[in-house]
Amino acid sequence: MRVMRAESAGFCLGVSLALQRLEREQALSGERGGRLITLGPVIHNPLLMSHYTQSGVICDDAPHDLRPEDRVLIRAHGIPRDVEAALKESGVSIADATCPKVKKARSAIGKAHAAGGVLLLLGERDHPEVRGLLSYAGPSAQVFADLEELRSQPLDPETDYFLAAQTTQSRAIFNLAVDDTARRLRREVPALDTICDATSARQQEVSELCATVASMVVVGGFNSGNTKRLAETAAEAGVFAVHVERPSDFSQEDLRRIRSAGSPVGLSAGASTPVEQIDAVQNFLEQMDITRNFPEAPAPPAREGKKTVCKR
Ligand code: SF4
Repeated sequence: MRVMRAESAGFCLGVSLALQRLEREQALSGERGGRLITLGPVIHNPLLMSHYTQSGVICDDAPHDLRPEDRVLIRAHGIPRDVEAALKESGVSIADATCPKVKKARSAIGKAHAAGGVLLLLGERDHPEVRGLLSYAGPSAQVFADLEELRSQPLDPETDYFLAAQTTQSRAIFNLAVDDTARRLRREVPALDTICDATSARQQEVSELCATVASMVVVGGFNSGNTKRLAETAAEAGVFAVHVERPSDFSQEDLRRIRSAGSPVGLSAGASTPVEQIDAVQNFLEQMDITRNFPEAPAPPAREGKKTVCKR
């Protein structure tokens, strides 16, 4: 099977910086003694994160037994304001791996809120980045996952709303949300530019690739919002799209659909997917012979995580 791989597939700047920081802190904690604790996964890639936890890094969303000699690493998605304040107050030593673009989004939201605005945020309510962004916007902020949810939420014509998005959201959906809100309120509503270029570039390339390929495979953590969005982008473009972390995640039905769609198959990956993980899936797909039986996907080892499949 011929594979067309998106040039943008793989690590973005924010993920690279966070992993460099994690490596540095891990080396230092080896010299210094004391534990290195990350507040939740530093990036959304369970395979890569398990490599670090197996070598001694502790991953805990809410550690209750912090010791003076511990070092706490803040994840690339950032953490809510009150959690950061509590950490600082506890006196524990902190290393911050929050992506600079997430910090920029938080700061823009904080300023608009301080000026009296009420936030309407496009994002996944339970995503750590969204919890962080909301903490800069006060209790009146509203979150919506998609246009349907936005349309179902009441808007007060007297309120000064402003719109923003989680950094990994689709720019096209956000633009529609801005237009929709303006139509409902019969006036322009300020919109902050908080969507990350790395995300838009990956989505754009997947859309373009879908015009050429027969099906699309997206590689990345099942808990990674930007990876899920890439698979959704491909499905919206009308091709069969499947999201995997590794070759063993393909079901026989996935392989049958890819094979019957024909060659070439498109390949992209989320911003937190290492090149080795993408290569492994590419090698597997390249071994598929569309005229004969395809290679059996290796049996998956037991692990946590849920697969998202987009089928059109
Ligand atoms: S996708 Fe963008 S916002 Fe998210 S970590 Fe990467 S650079 Fe930062």
